[in-house]
Order: sequence, then C-alpha cells, then structure tokens
Amino acid sequence: MCCHRCKGLMIRDSFIDLRDDTGRMTFDGWRCLNCGEVVDPLVLTHRDETPAEPYRGRTRDRRMWERLVAA
Ligand SMILES: [Zn+2]
Repeated sequence: MCCHRCKGLMIRDSFIDLRDDTGRMTFDGWRCLNCGEVVDPLVLTHRDETPAEPYRGRTRDRRMWERLVAA
C-alpha cells in the first residue's frame, strides 16, 4: 500500500486511541514509514465517499441582507 500524501511505503500497525469515546482503545491501521501518515479503516471509508454536491440554491447577497437589516 502506498501513502496517500507522499507515496511512501505503508506498513500495518496497531494503534492506541486514548480519546476514543466508543469504548474501543486499540485499532489496526496503516502507517507510512516516510511521513508518519496514519490511515485506519474509518479514514479509508471517508475517502471513498463521494463529496456532496455544492449548494446551488438561491442565496441572499450582501445588498439584500443589508436591506433586510435596515428595515
Ligand atoms: Zn507518507
């Protein structure tokens, strides 16, 4: 597996997350030997998700907002 950031070599590793509030203390993931990037299965899931479409609806511009505030 190649690192997403630097294309370096990643190795499997076990990590301890003391701030995890799900009750799980350890997790297995990947660590880059070059830059130290850590990737766990949750990060990979988020990277695979397609980002949401940007908002294309009607928005209020600044002039309209100033008129509303002045009224
Ligand atoms: Zn890296």
